[in-house]
Amino acid sequence: LLSICDVRKSFGSNLVLDGFSLEVDEGDCVVLIGASGSGKSTLLRCVNLLEVVDDGVIELDGIDITDPRANADRIRSGIGIVFQAYNLFPHLSVLDNVTLAPVRVHRIRRDVARARALDMLERVGLADKASARPDELSGGQQQRAAIARALVNSPSLMLLDEVTSALDPELVGEVLDLLRELKDDGMTMLICTHEMGFARSVADKICFLDNGRPLEVGPPSQVLENPVEPRTREFLRRIR
Ligand code: ATP
Ligand code: MG
Repeated sequence: LLSICDVRKSFGSNLVLDGFSLEVDEGDCVVLIGASGSGKSTLLRCVNLLEVVDDGVIELDGIDITDPRANADRIRSGIGIVFQAYNLFPHLSVLDNVTLAPVRVHRIRRDVARARALDMLERVGLADKASARPDELSGGQQQRAAIARALVNSPSLMLLDEVTSALDPELVGEVLDLLRELKDDGMTMLICTHEMGFARSVADKICFLDNGRPLEVGPPSQVLENPVEPRTREFLRRIR
């Protein structure tokens, strides 16, 4: 579904992605791990066209999304992205947060968008919070609302960047459970996370990034349990 081929990205003289390649099959959950600054967020931002790659090709559903002539808005609408901080609009209700993009950007009729948004809020267990404002929700609920917002366009791919890092420990589980359900429903996901238990139990593939390259890629049983590369071992030893 997603094919990242030999992507290079620098910020000034800082080479962040150095010939990065990775395949994400339909329905797979691929987890990116690696030290701070290794390029995980940059990679997700390149896939969502928030950054322009310097070189290489990213294909989604067989379409070269790095082609400068590609329709960036259309491509982005097929990709759901959720970041560490929930980025909900504080002055809007949860329901309005979820309907904003469909109505404003994608010109979907308000009643259709609201019906779809309510479905999504139901899906993430927040149907009863539709009219609440973000500051009336717990961190975990806010993050689930952000996930509902990312799901509302029925994306073919979800990108999730440390979506539990800002949460109190007791709220992490509810968000990870939701991601697990999405995976069970067949959603294709590319995730950065430090939650190794989650990675081990949900990921089809783990990719260890080292200096902007995929140093070790494979199932959790290999990369997390029996890493071949000394640098992968070193990284896992430090975070455990
Ligand atoms: P973390 O685990 O801390 O989130 P990461 O693997 O997500 O780290 P990135 O955020 O992708 O790392 O950053 C990789 C490198 O790119 C860092 O050296 C960072 O300073 C640099 N970088 C990222 N975004 C920009 C930007 N917009 N402008 C300049 N440099 C940037
Ligand atoms: Mg990051």
